[in-house]
Amino acid sequence: MQLDPRSLIAMGGLMSAMMAVVLLLMRRNYPPHIRGLDYWAAAPVLWLISTVLFSARGKLPDFLTMVMANQALLLGATVYYLGSRRFLGHGGGWSVWGGVLAASTLAFMWMTYVAPSYTLRIASFTLLMTVLYGSHLRFLWRHGGKSFPMRLVQVVLATHILVLSTRFVSVLMGRAGSDIMEPSLFQTVYIGAYVLTVLMLSIGAILLATDRLRTELEHLATHDSLTQALNRRAVMLACQEELDRARRYGHGPSIMMLDLDNFKMVNDTHGHQHGDAVLVHFAACTAAALRSEDRLGRYGGEEFLVLLPDTDALAASRVAQRIHALLQAGHPLDCQLSIGVTSWHGPADTLDAMLSRADAALYQAKEQGRNQTCVG
Ligand code: GH3
Ligand code: MG
Ligand code: MG
Repeated sequence: MQLDPRSLIAMGGLMSAMMAVVLLLMRRNYPPHIRGLDYWAAAPVLWLISTVLFSARGKLPDFLTMVMANQALLLGATVYYLGSRRFLGHGGGWSVWGGVLAASTLAFMWMTYVAPSYTLRIASFTLLMTVLYGSHLRFLWRHGGKSFPMRLVQVVLATHILVLSTRFVSVLMGRAGSDIMEPSLFQTVYIGAYVLTVLMLSIGAILLATDRLRTELEHLATHDSLTQALNRRAVMLACQEELDRARRYGHGPSIMMLDLDNFKMVNDTHGHQHGDAVLVHFAACTAAALRSEDRLGRYGGEEFLVLLPDTDALAASRVAQRIHALLQAGHPLDCQLSIGVTSWHGPADTLDAMLSRADAALYQAKEQGRNQTCVG
């Protein structure tokens, strides 16, 4: 199947225009701390400019329709890569790729005017794009994580690298053709792949930014903003899920209720901000004493809840001792606390009953002089 290159390029332009509008709107409406969207939005704009210039072949000077059309395409891909870098918290890239763009502009002018060679131009351009997409893919592979949108962008880049490599080899074998507008199977595959890549990379950018926003909103909805512990709703939900699991498998969790001792006095003596810093320090130390499957949540004020899946009261008491010890390490924000521990009493046990027992044990620890753990 051979398609007319001009129609394909026009299709690429249309895709770029649509994607540019969507990404520009996203850039306006998304929180500015989600970085890279401005670069990602600029990429399809440049691709649009590139397709307009390619299509104006014969109507505008060759400098624009050959040299600058290619360079706009290259700049778009570069800007997209730099957008990914910024999205993942890495700056830079301009010094290297700005230099490559400037040098390649001169080289393409040379290959257009001084020593005109379509084959050489195609070969160098294809190679340059392959290296650029390759660098991008390597960067995402190292720093991008494993989310679905990230994998999608990686697959799109890898596929395009494959198409570019095939094209490069075919050019070396003397099958470049003589003009980009010449209809052939190679041109159809190459330009078709380009159109799809424009579309899929833009969709990838939209999905990446949306996924980031969703993750952030989910974090805000489930975590306490001061201590970064789970909020009350989230930790209660985790406890309930754990009890449901315990009923199915017969292994139950322990829970701990923790309350900082004389915290009102800490606030009154050193100020509320110091109190906040103590809470942050407390949560960090406690989290450090827990295993990855354990959950720390802020139950309210200076009262916290810890869920220890598949743990008996003795093991839970040992964790409690570790927390006491970590908070008496000589740090200026160290504090004392009382802890009430209780373990699961079997399938008839409920979360309400466990919370009451932990609360009673905590009350007992306070009664017995604070800075200690009681089991209930
Ligand atoms: P006890 O040893 O009996 O637990 O005494 P306490 O002073 O810790 O308990 P009380 O319930 O009387 O006071 C708790 C204090 O915790 C009062 C409240 O102002 C303070 N508090 C609650 N939430 C925060 C917070 O987010 N930041 C700060 N700085 N203080 C908080
Ligand atoms: Mg207290
Ligand atoms: Mg309290």
